[in-house]
Amino acid sequence: MTYIPESLRRQVVERANGCCEYCLLPQDVSLYTHEVDHIIAEKHRGETVLENLCLACLDCNRAKGSDFGSFDVETGEITLLYNPRQQAWDDHFRLEGSRIIPLSPEGRVTVFVLKLNDEIRVRAHQALLEAGKYPAKRES
Ligand SMILES: [Zn+2]
Repeated sequence: MTYIPESLRRQVVERANGCCEYCLLPQDVSLYTHEVDHIIAEKHRGETVLENLCLACLDCNRAKGSDFGSFDVETGEITLLYNPRQQAWDDHFRLEGSRIIPLSPEGRVTVFVLKLNDEIRVRAHQALLEAGKYPAKRES
């Protein structure tokens, strides 16, 4: 894994407003430090540049690993994961309570691969939602 210089990490965190760019979990309510994710993993020649980096919580980043796509159950097609640098979250997902509802093939494979609606995560996000701490405010 390539070392990510502190200045680059700071830019990624600021751009994401301190929130996971996949599940919208704010850093300040997370037990673990959000990580800088290579959207296209280095294994697949993804570069360590701002355009290929995003902020991801530990759960999202661990579930994603070096994956960049999967089979979409509805279309049967190999589909790329949601790309926070090239796509708008609201075009691919919406929140229903603390559950993340996919709106596109990219949304569906991302919810599946990143396990966004694992029951334990939905319950944790629900508690934060009720406390007014989820989702984080995002720039649109
Ligand atoms: Zn996340």
